[in-house]
Amino acid sequence: MQKAEIVIIGGGVVGASVAYHLTERGCHDVLVLERESSLGLGSTGKATGGVRAQFETDININLSLYSLDFFNDWEHDCGYDPRGYLFLATDDKQLSYLQTTSLRQRELGYNGVSTVTTDDIRRLVPQLNCDDIVGGTWGPRDGFIDPLAILDGFVTRAEARGARFERTREVSSIKVSNGKAVSVTTANGEIACDAVVLCAGAWASDLAATAGIDLPVTPQRRQIVWAKSSEVLPANLPMVIDMSNGFHFRPAKNSVDEVLFAYADQSEPTSFCTEFDDSFIEKVYDKARHRAPFLAETTVVREKCRAGLYENSPDHHSILGGCEVGGLYFANGFSGHGVMHSPATGRALAEIILDGEASFLDVSSLSIDRFAKGELLHETAFI
Ligand SMILES: Cc1cc2nc3c(=O)[nH]c(=O)nc-3n(C[C@H](O)[C@H](O)[C@H](O)COP(=O)(O)OP(=O)(O)OC[C@H]3O[C@@H](n4cnc5c(N)ncnc54)[C@H](O)[C@@H]3O)c2cc1C
Repeated sequence: MQKAEIVIIGGGVVGASVAYHLTERGCHDVLVLERESSLGLGSTGKATGGVRAQFETDININLSLYSLDFFNDWEHDCGYDPRGYLFLATDDKQLSYLQTTSLRQRELGYNGVSTVTTDDIRRLVPQLNCDDIVGGTWGPRDGFIDPLAILDGFVTRAEARGARFERTREVSSIKVSNGKAVSVTTANGEIACDAVVLCAGAWASDLAATAGIDLPVTPQRRQIVWAKSSEVLPANLPMVIDMSNGFHFRPAKNSVDEVLFAYADQSEPTSFCTEFDDSFIEKVYDKARHRAPFLAETTVVREKCRAGLYENSPDHHSILGGCEVGGLYFANGFSGHGVMHSPATGRALAEIILDGEASFLDVSSLSIDRFAKGELLHETAFI
């Protein structure tokens, strides 16, 4: 029977980061199994490429601050571009939320994040309609990353240190014996191992069930409209997020006239559908027209519009660490933040597997136990 010390299921940015961090710690017998013929074809390849530390909970802020430093300092070019995130409030409740959360972000070490007035917002992005805006927040270290470049950086370095990535290798089940994960089953045979790390994104919960674990991760389609302007876009546009409806837009990477826009469509049902629905275009343009009239003048680039899956957990926070099955670990449920949190996630998993707990950051609040204990976290601004 084929053997590996640690088997990682899923070759997206999270599985690759876990492999990178395990091999960095000297654990080289790591095998990553990916069912597709290439890596990154899951949610990683669909992501918008945003990174922010403007979150509500301490754990999300801390995961982001760690990851921002990682992206900034990494010798690999991962496309980190701190253009900033501008959150817009249209009523006092949203503004008070942004004021409270930015205060906490500063307390936790996010220097530079600040509340901004409507006049500040007009100066930052003059093209916005500010008629109904009462203020906002500005996070200058937030910005953009390149999801596939991050994946490539993790894979290349993990492989150089001994990890193996096997493509077209779908895992059908995780075998448990005497309360411990002992192997995984694939179409071309069983692979014995000491530990299994489940990094299968939106598809993780069926695999967890084969080991008898109820992993509360559900798939939800997210769509992005890609458009082109006939004129050069304003320079240095940040990510802009309208708190009233979740509408957000960013300039496309390395482009002066293309832009991506979207919003969190709460009516999307739980499903594995990744087909782009053309009716989404008009819904998003409706919101764009109001908030940023220049976006309404753009033309849709239909072939670049895309849909992927969010891997939602019940409290929109990730699920990290072990469970009641010995040697079975999870890195799932990122609820749309898996690329930006991939560096901290990979390090946390490597420390949990090799040392028993993560010491660089206390991630115990993200353990799967929280659902049984009723200790759910709360984050308002998931976009
Ligand atoms: C439209 C959209 C925009 C987003 N924007 C952002 C953003 O701006 N910033 C951000 O941080 N995040 C964003 N996200 C979320 C982000 O893409 C995910 O959180 C992240 O990619 C999760 O990485 P992953 O490796 O866990 O999952 P994935 O990239 O989905 O990788 C899981 C892998 O597991 C494989 N797999 C599944 N089942 C099996 C099996 N049985 N056997 C073997 N392999 C299997 C899949 O093929 C896949 O390659 C966005 C997501 C979407 C859809």
